Amino acid sequence: MTELAQERRLVTSIPGPKSQELLARKSAAVANGVGVTLPVFVTRAGGGVLEDVDGNSLIDFGSGIAVTSVGNSAEAVVRRASAQLADFTHTCFMVTPYEEYVEVAEHLAELTPGDHAKKSALFNSGAEAVENAVKIARAYTKRTAVVVFDHGYHGRTNLTMALTAKNMPYKEGFGPFAPEVYRVPLAYPYRWLTGAENCAEEAATQAIDQITKQIGAHNVAAIVIEPIAGEGGFIEPAKGFLPRMAEFAKENGIVFVADEIQTGFCRTGQWFACEDEGIVPDLITTAKGIAGGLPLAAVTGRAEIMDAAHPGGLGGTYGGNPVACAGALGAIETMKELDLPAKARRIGEIMLGRLRGIQEKFEIVGDVRGRGAMIAIELVEPGPLLPEGGRGGRTKTPNAAAAAALAKACHAEGLVVLTAGTYGNVLRFLPPLVIGEDLLNEGLDIIEEAFTRL
Ligand SMILES: *Cc1c(COP(=O)(O)O)cnc(C)c1O
Repeated sequence: MTELAQERRLVTSIPGPKSQELLARKSAAVANGVGVTLPVFVTRAGGGVLEDVDGNSLIDFGSGIAVTSVGNSAEAVVRRASAQLADFTHTCFMVTPYEEYVEVAEHLAELTPGDHAKKSALFNSGAEAVENAVKIARAYTKRTAVVVFDHGYHGRTNLTMALTAKNMPYKEGFGPFAPEVYRVPLAYPYRWLTGAENCAEEAATQAIDQITKQIGAHNVAAIVIEPIAGEGGFIEPAKGFLPRMAEFAKENGIVFVADEIQTGFCRTGQWFACEDEGIVPDLITTAKGIAGGLPLAAVTGRAEIMDAAHPGGLGGTYGGNPVACAGALGAIETMKELDLPAKARRIGEIMLGRLRGIQEKFEIVGDVRGRGAMIAIELVEPGPLLPEGGRGGRTKTPNAAAAAALAKACHAEGLVVLTAGTYGNVLRFLPPLVIGEDLLNEGLDIIEEAFTRL
């Protein structure tokens, strides 16, 4: 097979005729509920590009939603997963185990924050990992309540729908939802009414007040939080908020769960986003970037908490599938060899620099934020600048139409970007960490042109 050229190449309109034919077949055969962001049917992918059935090559700023951090079909992932496929595909770890599962758990113990004794359990999807973290926290604390945050996203199963904040499209019509889930404020600096400088302190005080007054801290099994809210719009909680919540959890015997499914495995410029403020979570959930595109998820945490669930209480037929585990070992090997945390930081520097330039020029850019290769811009309605001028004077009215139009314009030019946010007004960028800087800059040029033409 020939090397995949690391270039953008458009030979048809997007989507091309073959993709459109496939889209018609998709519409006839696949449930409407399974939506598609950009109906370009992919045949090959790697590095920073996706090649489609029409021969187009698109720049990838999505990584299949923060999954292919090591690149698509990364060499070590393919090598190790292929060898595993040839050896055996499945035994069920709960029936007759295998070394690869144990080895992934050993890596997780070594790589996640904190030097305490840790154990892991492996699953197939992020939602499943979050569900199991809640099961484990309940078994350990013998309490039932779970605290989550505004703008949080934790999955699409029944319990994780309850944990997820946003109704449309995740929850609408799918209730009733699991009980004993309580939502408290998140320190969202850009939208904090009394200003970003008050955000951490006030949000933490409100959250803790609600927990103690409305639930009773002694009833809370777990506080579950994303260190940077992903689907919620790449909201980095104001500094100081996460440490306050972690401290509160510790003082009250509550299991502090960091949902690092999107932020974990080098994405934000560190192995885990919690490290940024020195947080050591009791449990950490991982998935997405863990296995270079193969379905794998994990709960990792303090051995005494992880062991609270009785033997047989955790598991699943496919959880920690050997091929997925081999993929994870290949992905972790790649992350270490290529120092992907450093690559993510470099991507962040380039993107934030360029996007802040765009922010200066276009008043609909309300906020540019994120860490490493997890960067977003929040779009607002144009409006008169207040007398003090500058950014502070812009309106903050969410502009979802602009996000949709910009995404569409980028797609037409062969750049895959995603939208996000509670208000649907966030453009988010999650390039593979192995993307070349020329492709990264070309993608940013396309974004800038899209603003100019809007
Ligand atoms: C994607 C995501 C999930 C759900 O993962 P799935 O593999 O889609 O079930 C949970 N939490 C966060 C933070 C996520 O980004």
